[in-house]
Amino acid sequence: MIKHFELDEAFARRMDADDPLAHFRERFYVPGKTIYLDGNSLGLMCKDSETAVARVMEEWKTQAIGGWLEATPAWFYMAETLGAMAAKLVGAQDNEVVCSGTTTVNLHALVSTFYHPKGKRTKILADALNFPSDIYALKGQIKLKNLSVDDHLVLVPGKENNSQVLDEENIVERMTDEIAVALLPSVLYRSGQLLDMPYLTKKAHEKGIVIGFDCSHSVGAVPHRFDEWEVDFAFWCSYKYMNGGPGSPAFLYVNKKHFQKEPLLPGWFGYMKEKQFDMVLEFQHARSAGGWQISTPPVVSTAGVQGALNLLLEAGIEPIREKSIRMTEYFIYLVDHLLPADKYNITIGTPREPARRSGHVALEGDENIWRIYQALKADGIIPDFRPPNIIRFAPIALYNTYYDVWKTINRLKEIIDNKEYKDFPNDRAAIT
Ligand SMILES: *Cc1c(COP(=O)(O)O)cnc(C)c1O
Repeated sequence: MIKHFELDEAFARRMDADDPLAHFRERFYVPGKTIYLDGNSLGLMCKDSETAVARVMEEWKTQAIGGWLEATPAWFYMAETLGAMAAKLVGAQDNEVVCSGTTTVNLHALVSTFYHPKGKRTKILADALNFPSDIYALKGQIKLKNLSVDDHLVLVPGKENNSQVLDEENIVERMTDEIAVALLPSVLYRSGQLLDMPYLTKKAHEKGIVIGFDCSHSVGAVPHRFDEWEVDFAFWCSYKYMNGGPGSPAFLYVNKKHFQKEPLLPGWFGYMKEKQFDMVLEFQHARSAGGWQISTPPVVSTAGVQGALNLLLEAGIEPIREKSIRMTEYFIYLVDHLLPADKYNITIGTPREPARRSGHVALEGDENIWRIYQALKADGIIPDFRPPNIIRFAPIALYNTYYDVWKTINRLKEIIDNKEYKDFPNDRAAIT
């Protein structure tokens, strides 16, 4: 890993010239003259996705109902086909992953199967820093069992007051014999901290707890080894680091040791494939991750995921991770040197050890941070803002350059030095 960086633009240009993944940028549409650093919220469209969606539109036009079996790949098997592709990104067997539903729906589908309060073991363990949708869903799951949320949802707090990082030991301490299921994010969406999934899984199993992960902020950026780690279940969206498209269908993973368990948010697409069209009223679920599907797959948007997934597999998750780390290291180096903490009210909220973070860097600021963010955007630099005071920057290995990173920090410095942010209002828009 390169630890040596330099401050001048020429260095950034040299890094780009030496970058083995640089040619993938041409396969993406980068809007206008922007520096797009929001791929952890919505990945950019790649030409491969565009082609795949156009293919399905053509199949729909020319084959209509026939497309379910005659399209290539057949729509009927598309969720499983994409699952087998994504399995390579997460260290799973082909039939342990399926492309289906949405992130939050998959959480419900999986937690419905794995959460059975019994005797003393009645609680769910989660964390107070998780994406709110996951917490809303877990509260709903507890209420469905007629239990009180206050007593049955254990939320691990941040490491210190207002901190956006978790201490794994605080999580393990709360893995008591009252916990039935633990559900944690692989990566905290604000700070970008990557939790130690193998360690947490091992500890959970030692205490007899089933454990699942929401990997929305890690798949496509970080390699996973779900089978080797013996994770029980996982799910993740496809529109962040996977570049599948806005609202594109999500993925779920079920460890094969659980294939016999009954999906308790069932639907007919989870039926044993070869018998689904027998249309009998007794549900027989597929003995694979496919059993946790609910409905007919959204074929057009699934095609978008297919194109993007092909490209990810072509580049390889290990080279992607390597470049991603190098870019975030470079980002942190520039912040340390150009925006030193003793002169600027900007701090790095992301863990500094590369192994403990995913693909973005969070900068925490003072009361001017929202206006600073707007000034960056007005300049065509697109990170995103998360309340109360965080700007997240995600340099994406497949389409960002080292120059993008260099330019961003240099502009950030000018915006602060020249007080350019004063031209922007303090009130906030709905989507940032
Ligand atoms: C992005 C994200 C979601 C989004 O949920 P949807 O159901 O896809 O809208 C949920 N949880 C986490 C942790 C996320 O990062």
